[in-house]
Amino acid sequence: MAKERFFLELVPSEAVMKSWPHVVIVGGGFAGLKAAHRLAGKPVRVTLVDKRNFNLFQPLLYQVASGLVSEADVATPLRLLLAKSSNVQVLLGEVVDLDPDKREVVFNDRHLRYDNLILATGSGSTYFGHEEWRELAPPMKIIEHADEIRRRVLSALEEAEQTPDVERCRFLQTAVVVGGGPSGCELAGSLNELMQHAARRDFRQLDPQLCRVILVDPGDRVLRAMTPDLSEAAGDYLNSRGVELVLGGRVQSIEAGRLTVDFKTPPPGTPAERVLEAATICWSAGVCASHLGKLLADRTGCNVDRGGRVVVEPDFSIAGHPEIRVVGDLCSYAHTVDGKPLPGMAGPAVQMGGWVALDLLSQLSGERQPTFRWFDFGSMAVIGPLFAVADLRGVKITGAFGWLLWGLAHLAFMPANENRLTLLTKWLWMIATRQRASLLITGRADQHMGVEVGLERAERIEESKPPEPQVSAAS
Ligand SMILES: Cc1cc2nc3c(=O)[nH]c(=O)nc-3n(C[C@H](O)[C@H](O)[C@H](O)COP(=O)(O)OP(=O)(O)OC[C@H]3O[C@@H](n4cnc5c(N)ncnc54)[C@H](O)[C@@H]3O)c2cc1C
Repeated sequence: MAKERFFLELVPSEAVMKSWPHVVIVGGGFAGLKAAHRLAGKPVRVTLVDKRNFNLFQPLLYQVASGLVSEADVATPLRLLLAKSSNVQVLLGEVVDLDPDKREVVFNDRHLRYDNLILATGSGSTYFGHEEWRELAPPMKIIEHADEIRRRVLSALEEAEQTPDVERCRFLQTAVVVGGGPSGCELAGSLNELMQHAARRDFRQLDPQLCRVILVDPGDRVLRAMTPDLSEAAGDYLNSRGVELVLGGRVQSIEAGRLTVDFKTPPPGTPAERVLEAATICWSAGVCASHLGKLLADRTGCNVDRGGRVVVEPDFSIAGHPEIRVVGDLCSYAHTVDGKPLPGMAGPAVQMGGWVALDLLSQLSGERQPTFRWFDFGSMAVIGPLFAVADLRGVKITGAFGWLLWGLAHLAFMPANENRLTLLTKWLWMIATRQRASLLITGRADQHMGVEVGLERAERIEESKPPEPQVSAAS
C-alpha cells in the first residue's frame, strides 16, 4: 500500500504504529498546529485535517490588506510545517459532521475514526444578524478577505486618478473601518499610511488632502480591552496621522458606499445620526466561533456560549466525552482565577494546543500532568510604522520601542523561518523607503467574498437563521 494512504485507510504501513492511538486534529491554526508539533515523534498516529492547505498567521492580515506584505508571507503550507514528522499526516478537507458514538469525523464524504479528537477550528466573523452587510463591508478573517480589501482600496485610488470630479474623488479616496479593536486600529492606521503615501508619491492626479480614513466604534475609546492611557495614546497617534475617530455610535445600516451610524448620546450640537460615504468599507467588529461548536453541541449535548464557543472542562474535554478536546478560539475556557473565559487570541490558543497534546501523552504513559495555567504575556497593537502600544503584564510601552517588541513577538510566533526572514526584510525596507511591495490588484470580488472554504459559508447559513437562546447541556 502506498505510504501516503496508510492513515486514511487506517492501516499503518509500519507495524509498530498499528497499536498506537489515532489522534485526529481538526484545524491547523495556532492551536491545532501546536498540538501536532507536540505529538510529532511520539507514539501516536496523528491526522491533521484542515480545509485549507496552509496555516494562516491572522495577526498580520492587515499588512496583506494594505499591500505591505503578500499572502505567502503570512501563510505557510501545513505539509511543509509537518514534513519531518513521520507519525503525522495532513489531509485537506472540511469536516462537516461528527459521530461521537462511533468516534468518527466526516469530511470529503469519508468517515475517519479516532481514538482522541482535538477540535481547533477557530472562529469567523459575525455581522450581528445583518449578513447582507458582508459583501458591502468585507471582514478580515481569511487571506481572500485581505485581498478583497486591498483590491477595493487600490481600485478606488486608480479610478480617482482618472476622475476630474472632486466630490467623486473625495468618495473614492475615503475608507471606513468598523471596529476599534486591535485589528481595526491596525487596519485603519495602515490603510491611512498607504493612501497618504500613494497619493503623494505614486499617483500624479490624486490630492492627498482628499484621502480620508474613518474608524467607527461604539465605545468611548479605541482598544477598549487595554487600559485607558494606552487607548488614549493609540487614539492620539491615529488622530495625529489624520485618521478620523467616530466613537460612541453604532452602525445602523450599510448600503453600497454608504454607512449610517446612530449615537445614543450624541455630543452636544451634533446630530444623533451620521452618514458616512466611502468607496471602501471594512468590517472588524464581530467574532463568532466556528460552526463546529454548534454541531458538537447538537451531537453531544455539550454547552456552547452565546458566541458559539464550546464550554470545556478544565482539561478541555466536554462532559461525557473525555476523548474529545476543544481548544483555541472554538472553546470557552473559564477555569481561570477570575472565572472569566480566556480571550480569543493566538497566545492562549497556542498554550491550549500544547497543553492538550502533553496531557494526551501523559495519559498514555499513565502520568498526570499539572493543571492548565495560562501565562498571559500581555497584549499589543501596532498603530503605525514604528508605533505600537503594548501592555506587558502591567508594563506599558508606546511608540518605537513598543513596535520593536511587537515585531519580535510576531516573528517569534511565526511558524516558518523563511517567512520570518521575508517579513523582517519587508518591514525594514518599508521603514527605510516607505515603499509597499505588494500593492497588487488581483482577482474579483466574487472570487474573494464567495470562496468555498467552509467556515464563512457555513456561518452565513447559521447567521441567516433567527438568533437562538444559549444551548443547554440537557438537550
Ligand atoms: C485580523 C486578525 C488579527 C488578529 N490579531 C491578533 C493579534 O494581534 N494577537 C493575537 O493574539 N491574536 C490575534 N488574532 C486572533 C488570533 O488569530 C486567533 O485567536 C487565533 O488564530 C486562534 O487560533 P485557533 O487555532 O483557535 O484558530 P485559527 O488560527 O483560526 O485556525 C483554525 C483552523 O481551522 C481550520 N478549519 C476551520 N473549520 C474547519 C473545518 N470545518 N474543517 C477543517 N478545518 C477547518 C481553518 O482553516 C484554520 O486553519 C487576530 C485575528 C484576526 C482575524
